[in-house]
Amino acid sequence: MRTIDTLGDLRGKRVLVRSDFNVPLKDGQITDDGRIKAALPTLTRLVEAGAKVVIMAHLGRPKGEVKPEFSLAPVVTRLGELIDAPVTLAGDVVGEGARAAVEALSDGEIVLLENVRFDKRENSKDDAEREELAQAYAELGDVFVSDGFGVVHRKQASVYDIAKKLPSAAGELVVKEIESLRRATDDPERPYGVVLGGSKVSDKLGVIKNLLNKADFLLIGGGMAYTFLAAQGYSVGKSLLEEDQIDTVKGYLETAKEKGVELLLPVDTVVAPEFKADAPATVVASNEIPQDQMGLDIGPETAKLFAEKIADAKTVAWNGPMGVFEMEAFAKGTKAVAEALSTSDCFSVIGGGDSAAAVRQLGFDESTFSHISTGGGASLELLEGKELPGIAVLED
Ligand code: ADP
Ligand code: MG
Repeated sequence: MRTIDTLGDLRGKRVLVRSDFNVPLKDGQITDDGRIKAALPTLTRLVEAGAKVVIMAHLGRPKGEVKPEFSLAPVVTRLGELIDAPVTLAGDVVGEGARAAVEALSDGEIVLLENVRFDKRENSKDDAEREELAQAYAELGDVFVSDGFGVVHRKQASVYDIAKKLPSAAGELVVKEIESLRRATDDPERPYGVVLGGSKVSDKLGVIKNLLNKADFLLIGGGMAYTFLAAQGYSVGKSLLEEDQIDTVKGYLETAKEKGVELLLPVDTVVAPEFKADAPATVVASNEIPQDQMGLDIGPETAKLFAEKIADAKTVAWNGPMGVFEMEAFAKGTKAVAEALSTSDCFSVIGGGDSAAAVRQLGFDESTFSHISTGGGASLELLEGKELPGIAVLED
């Protein structure tokens, strides 16, 4: 993958950067600026190199229309506070406002183009439409730096097509993400374990399939575990169940056996009659879930078992919470896995938006994990072994 070093001296050059500034907003205020902070290493480096920095980013889903509630204005304000450089917002994506704003830039200054998804060509399925927009972007820059890890799995104008128009390279965040995720999937130090959870098994079938060929052990918790338990013939009461996936999951259980991959399911389960924070919770064996109860977390025996497996591993990839961590009564399993990862000296990678949120919400020090990915979808696709268009285009 080409890096910023390959772009040469950047002083006075217009550097187009794709960043991921898709931050959560509430009443126009940013509630989590993690993605803006993750973009700082690249942006600081470019500013210090004396580049004229032109950022492309999206926010929410304005669906190709200019909608003021999706303006990048709040991001501009926050970025201006976080970085030691003047930051302004262009009046539009690639129109008169954008051209004037780029024209006015001095070395070491930053302008954000308006939300790229205000232009419907950004996400178009039609290659020609995307290319046309990419050409308009290309006229605003001399070189391109791809640093929006959260979007590198998307074939979009500001991610993919632009990289074919200008000399291009991966930014610091993308390099770090790809190095970490590859280290945790391609040639991992063994024992190599994968912890999977979250709500839906169907979201992660591709990951399970790919990792059955690579991992030494798989720990399965969260809502997806009940489809596995059902595949073993247990009844799961009112727990999340994807009946149409039972046969596929049976196949995975077979494959795991054939390949000698240890696949561990919850041996006990925290159940409650309702999906409610104050519902009365009890612990039952996983093959004795009552008809009128639902599983909302892995039980304490399982948490201990999973923690022991993690402690023995040299590499662990984790995607998906072990239970409904948003409710305190059902957060213990997720906490136990996070604790085991944070105290282990294994190489640990956490992917998935909710898993990353869980680790923060439960108060863990982020630096005790080797890597927390900023991209949910992109990190899943890497775990699935897929080629990401926004990365492939930086490789040739
Ligand atoms: P990630 O974003 O990390 O990939 P997912 O989006 O797949 O994770 O799943 C996260 C959601 O799964 C959380 O909101 C959590 O409450 C939910 N979840 C976990 N375990 C269960 C369960 N047993 N029943 C219902 N929902 C669950
Ligand atoms: Mg999620």
